[in-house]
Amino acid sequence: MGTGVHASDETDGFKSKAKYCLKCAGRLEDRIIEDKARRACTACDFVFYQDPKPVAGVLAVRDGNLLLVQRGNEPKRGRWSFPTGYIDVGDSPEETAIREAKEEANVDVQLNSLLGVYSDKRRTVVLVIYTGTIGAGNPAAGAEALDARLFDLQDLPILAFDHDYDILTDLFSKTQEHNRTEMVTR
Ligand SMILES: [Zn+2]
Repeated sequence: MGTGVHASDETDGFKSKAKYCLKCAGRLEDRIIEDKARRACTACDFVFYQDPKPVAGVLAVRDGNLLLVQRGNEPKRGRWSFPTGYIDVGDSPEETAIREAKEEANVDVQLNSLLGVYSDKRRTVVLVIYTGTIGAGNPAAGAEALDARLFDLQDLPILAFDHDYDILTDLFSKTQEHNRTEMVTR
């Protein structure tokens, strides 16, 4: 499975339009539960809670170059972003990040550390982003990607999503911290 992840999650409201109960097929109605509008079952009182979707990805670097994938799907088709994908039940965020780099860019990635967890109120995804390094071989476009390439960190293309820049800023501050520490310990 590829991504499409950043995809289709920019919704106006998160309340489900579901009509029937998942448990008993009874009719759902709007109710205010815990201060939020939710769909609940008129027959069995089952509440259809809307959960965020967890997504994992990696900022994979080799020799000062960052791995980016050109999106093959809407939204933002043709724009560049990091490899990311939905976390399937039973898979860890780490496994997902490694799998997506392989699927979208055909590279083997080793994760280094957790960069951060990103979310915002307008979107239904929660991103778990790692830093990583790329093994041997050159990236090549995989599933749902138009292209996959390494870009000089100083010369990146326009990225697909606003939060991509937040994530990138964290990478840069982490890299600088790392360099400072190296200089001090030398
Ligand atoms: Zn029900």
